Amino acid sequence: MSSSQTFFFAAVGDVHGHMNRMVSHLTAWEERSRRPLEFVLQVGDFEPHRHDADLAAMSAPLRYRHLGDFAAYHQRRRRFPWPVYFIGGNHEPYGHLDLHPEGAELAPRCHYLGRSGVVELNDLRVAGLSGIHREATFTQPRPPLAALGTASNKDFTFFNEQDVERALALGRADVLLLHDWPSGIIQPQQAAGFQGQRRSASHDLVGNDYARLLVDALQPRLVLCGHLHRRYAATVAHPGGQRSHVRCLASVEQGADAFAVFQVRGADLQEVAMQE
Ligand SMILES: [Zn+2]
Repeated sequence: MSSSQTFFFAAVGDVHGHMNRMVSHLTAWEERSRRPLEFVLQVGDFEPHRHDADLAAMSAPLRYRHLGDFAAYHQRRRRFPWPVYFIGGNHEPYGHLDLHPEGAELAPRCHYLGRSGVVELNDLRVAGLSGIHREATFTQPRPPLAALGTASNKDFTFFNEQDVERALALGRADVLLLHDWPSGIIQPQQAAGFQGQRRSASHDLVGNDYARLLVDALQPRLVLCGHLHRRYAATVAHPGGQRSHVRCLASVEQGADAFAVFQVRGADLQEVAMQE
């Protein structure tokens, strides 16, 4: 497709195995708006479990462990209507994903971007960093896959210094996918709304500094993130005048707040209202 043509793509928050709901919500939008989506970007906690063994390797309390919809896509009983690109969150079958640290197509039209990776889609460069931050192990390597079952499943859910360095080396990006939010994006007047939010005792503790470092370094036009199951929008202004629009998305189980659609027309990238 040439860069002068207009196209639409969707962004989706945490899926947690609800691929069928994701597909039905977005195909309903396509029918309502009579606009086709070119591709879908997803910000982690996708939960692409093929079978119970994948589920057993996920870091999550037992009550949150459900096989979910992915197995049907993996077994080709169902098919994604558009290519889907996702990063890893903190609830993923990393025993499976870490077989493909550089990313891979895990089911037809379903692509994992890797621990850090970039893909070129219709002239848009989409970069991503999988996992969440833990300061205590940031400079250490992750346990090898062979340690799965003996090491804590949680130890596989964090990005480390090497992942961040690789992401920094990806160069220019138009869109950046992150699971947790970048730090420093909560407006002081909205801080009260974040008090008591899980993982965020105060507004300046929301997000992490390495996600922010990537936003500042790559200066993408659009940053997409999930993790907190909460919709939020912010803008980061860079010293050179460039601006990054940050769009945080809720989880698919919460409904419409998990979804956003963007229109690309040449160099112009705009969010479009989904309700009409
Ligand atoms: Zn989640």
